[in-house]
Formats: sequence, C-alpha cells, structure tokens
Amino acid sequence: ALQIGHDLGAALMTARALERERNLVRELQQLADYRTQLIATLSHELRTPLSVISGNLEMLGELDLEHPATQYREAMARGTGRMAKVVDDLLLLARVSDPRHPLERTPVDLRLVAEDVLALVGSSARSKELTLRVELGDEPLLVPGDPTELDRLVANLVSNAVKYTGSGGTVVVAAARRAADVVLQVGDDGLGISEEDQIGLFSPFFRTTNPDALSQPGTGLGLSIVATIVERHHGRVEVSSRVGVGTTFTVTLPVA
Ligand code: ADP
Repeated sequence: ALQIGHDLGAALMTARALERERNLVRELQQLADYRTQLIATLSHELRTPLSVISGNLEMLGELDLEHPATQYREAMARGTGRMAKVVDDLLLLARVSDPRHPLERTPVDLRLVAEDVLALVGSSARSKELTLRVELGDEPLLVPGDPTELDRLVANLVSNAVKYTGSGGTVVVAAARRAADVVLQVGDDGLGISEEDQIGLFSPFFRTTNPDALSQPGTGLGLSIVATIVERHHGRVEVSSRVGVGTTFTVTLPVA
C-alpha cells in the first residue's frame, strides 16, 4: 500500500508539472501572438498618416523650388522616408511572423530573383565602384515558396552587402542546387561583423556596435525579416564573418 501511495504521489506530481508547462507554453504563445498583433496594428495605423504627410510634402515641393523653406521641407521628406521604411519593415515582419498567415508555395526561380535584385542594386554598387560577382549557373533554381518573400530575403542580404562594403570592394552572389536544397550565398569583403554582434544579428532592431556600420541608414529589421522568411520556408541561414575581412551569409532552402 505504501508503494502504491508513493507511485500515485509521483504520478500526481508529474501530471501537475506537465500541466504547469502546458500553461506556460500557452501563455508564451499568447504573448507572441499579442506582440505580432500589436506590431501589425501599430504599423497599419502609422502607415496612413505617414502617407498623408509625405503626399503633402511632395505637393509643397512642387509649389516653389526657390522658396527659402525648401531645405526644411527636404529634411522633413527624408525623415518621413526613413519612418516609412521602418513602418513598412514592421508590417512585413508582422505579416511573416503571423502563424495564421499561410505560406504561398509556388515554384520560384531563385536565379531570376537574384538577377532582379542585382539589377536593382546596380546603381548604388556602381556609385561605390563595387565589383559585383554573380555565379548563378544556367539552370533554373526552383524552390517552392512565396515570390514576394523570397525576393525580400535576397534583396535584404544583397543590399546589406552593398551597404556595409566600402568603395572598391567586392560583393559575390552565388546560388546552386545541392542535393535536395538550393544554396544561396551572399558574400562581401566589407566591414565584417564581430563574434559578439553575430549573436544578436537576427533579432528585431539589432544594430551593430561598429561605428562605420552605424553611419549607414538602417532599421535593424532586415535580418530578422530574412530569418523569419527562411524559417517559414523550412530553410536555414548561417553567417560567417570577420571584422575588417568580410561577411558571407549562406541560405539553404529545401527544393521539395
Ligand atoms: P540594418 O541594415 O537595417 O541595420 P539588418 O537587420 O539588415 O538591419 O542588419 C543588422 C546589422 O547587421 C546591421 O546594422 C549591420 O551592422 C550588420 N550587418 C548586416 N549585414 C552585414 C554585412 N553584410 N556586413 C557587415 N555588417 C552587416
């Protein structure tokens, strides 16, 4: 009887511990949902007044280019532009973080995505006299996924490489099929990221402590968007970097 009582007591304790754990998981999930919802609502609410401000600033600009207040208007337009970028990134992060938002799964050719992105960064790369090395092969590199999200994933990595590499540097964009995956690499010989900074790299709003990198405009949301999109596509993202030498991001996305 003593043994049975003992076993029963142990079983009860395990059941209680399990129940506590389940409650904790539920609470954490509710908090995560709340955070996503809050970000989505706030950024949505901010988007409309921001469009009104930038629309009006644009109209003011058309009125009189010689007006002495032009410089103030231009400063306001730059500020609003930066704010709009933060709000757009937040909206996107909220959208891709929302588990109720289903992932579209159409065949997307990463080679074409990379080519489109490269065309977009072409002028800023040229103005910094960067060498763009492109190794994409001739075959389509199809992965099932959301075309807009995959475009954003590649765009964020490539624009970072261009942004954080000094004049005369090299940016490499390579992609190839490896067994059941497509592997995309975006490398540069730019500023690099310290080991300490690599720890927080994919968290929302993370920006480095490197003053040269901080002198570039940014929201600290780009890589958290990258990580969330990769996760939704059941892939992996890794970084390898050394300060003053360069950085390579490797994204592995399953083909099936
Ligand atoms: P943002 O570029 O808007 O600051 P990201 O989330 O894209 O935000 O990047 C976070 C930080 O990681 C950047 O502030 C920068 O310091 C660092 N970083 C990202 N990509 C690179 C890169 N290719 N080379 C050096 N640093 C980088």
